[in-house]
Amino acid sequence: MNEYVTPPGGEVSLYGDRVRVYPRAVQGIARNFKWALLIFCLAVYYILPWVRWNRGPGNPNQAVLLDISTERFYFFGITFWPQDIVLLTGGLILAAVGLFLITSLFGRIWCGYACPQTVWTDLFMLVERWIEGDRNARMRRDAGPTSLDKVWRKLAKHSVWLGVAFWTGGGWIMYYVDAPTVVGDFWTGQASYGVYGFTFLFTATTYVLAGWAREQVCTYMCPWPRFQSAMLDEQTLIVTYQGWRGEPRGRGKRDVVPAPAFGDCIDCHACVHVCPTGIDIRDGVQLECIGCGLCVDACNEIMTRTSQPLWLIKWDTLARQAGLAKGELVEPIKLIRPRTLIYLAVLGIAVAAMGIGLAMRSLLEVSVQHERAPLFVRLHDGSLRNAYTLKLVNKYTHDVSFTVTVEAAMRAKLQVAGSTDAPADAITILVPADSVGAYRVFLDAAPGGVEAKNAEITFLLRDTTDNILIKRSANFIGAGKPGGG
Ligand code: SF4
Ligand code: SF4
Repeated sequence: MNEYVTPPGGEVSLYGDRVRVYPRAVQGIARNFKWALLIFCLAVYYILPWVRWNRGPGNPNQAVLLDISTERFYFFGITFWPQDIVLLTGGLILAAVGLFLITSLFGRIWCGYACPQTVWTDLFMLVERWIEGDRNARMRRDAGPTSLDKVWRKLAKHSVWLGVAFWTGGGWIMYYVDAPTVVGDFWTGQASYGVYGFTFLFTATTYVLAGWAREQVCTYMCPWPRFQSAMLDEQTLIVTYQGWRGEPRGRGKRDVVPAPAFGDCIDCHACVHVCPTGIDIRDGVQLECIGCGLCVDACNEIMTRTSQPLWLIKWDTLARQAGLAKGELVEPIKLIRPRTLIYLAVLGIAVAAMGIGLAMRSLLEVSVQHERAPLFVRLHDGSLRNAYTLKLVNKYTHDVSFTVTVEAAMRAKLQVAGSTDAPADAITILVPADSVGAYRVFLDAAPGGVEAKNAEITFLLRDTTDNILIKRSANFIGAGKPGGG
């Protein structure tokens, strides 16, 4: 946290030196939950690229892969194509509305427990604590003179940080390139410059953000705290200090007669010392508070030690706390309220739309385009030839063979351009798995078959494996005759 300083001249400076935060270790319910989520999130992040998924020969067998070279996003059994960008956008909207709902119910639970910045900062702090000791030891050493002890501990800490950052940066690359291959290529010097460059970039980013910037990212860089207040209301469950119970704070003895004029807060600052953003929860709701609940654990430790009731700092709503402060009977926490119902409704609609979109997503796409130059050609036997480009997208992981015919008022025959086969009523086109094919096709109308300048026709493409029929309308351009169109 930065402090705004007033220089001797009296002008208020908007800039101040960063006040280093030295969070102390703490144990308790919030801390345990944070450890559990940290292990889960890191395990998923580091292990996922190594999970294999059989998609058949010729296809990548990595379960989650964003393959930029082929423009595919593989997610277990689903392959997303660039044409599926709507579904990916829908997924992001879903995640955003879900976050709005969670925030309106439980405050900044995402920030405090699952945000990558929080998870990696926690991991870096753990390394720091192992090597440099807890809060007091670190503060003493940092304030003291340079010594061998100080130098080797700093060197060791930054080396481990860099190792973790490299592992993290490298892990990110594995979501874009096949993991076993890129690891082999990386260490044998055969990886691309892009792989080395991005590994370096993500290593540096992790090291700086989680090792150095820490709470500054949450307080100054992240936009989320700025607009999350729009999702909070007085019924949101947040970490709150029960001032009505704790004040007036003071350090005197509690078990004396007559009872001391103090509240339950012994002003020990334990809640401040464990806070990863260095704030004092007793000052009320603050932008810097990421809702991690470590101050709850710290204060519960103190309450236990001083034989006072637990939960002086607790998760509660502002509405309930206002009632308790007035000595009123307070209502239970309201999870169902207009705001959360709206978010739930939007979430439900988004889930339904995504589900329908996914279920109805066609794995075969066909487009037919008439060639413009020339519009038609008259062949030596008097028949008219039009040319078309059939663009066939096969999103399956197996080859698909189409039988192509044409529904038209005139008699017409098809031929694949460049084929030695004679024009026929039906042609067969094979589209390899997971590919896009563009095929030039001729349609020859028998002499005298086309009176009009423009005849409507329909291409019929039947998938010979699953018997799926796809129809596409097109036009046949004729020479036109008097009385024709
Ligand atoms: S930890 Fe509890 S008792 Fe200590 S200062 Fe914070 S609120 Fe008061
Ligand atoms: S005030 Fe408490 S809940 Fe907020 S960031 Fe600090 S320790 Fe976490």
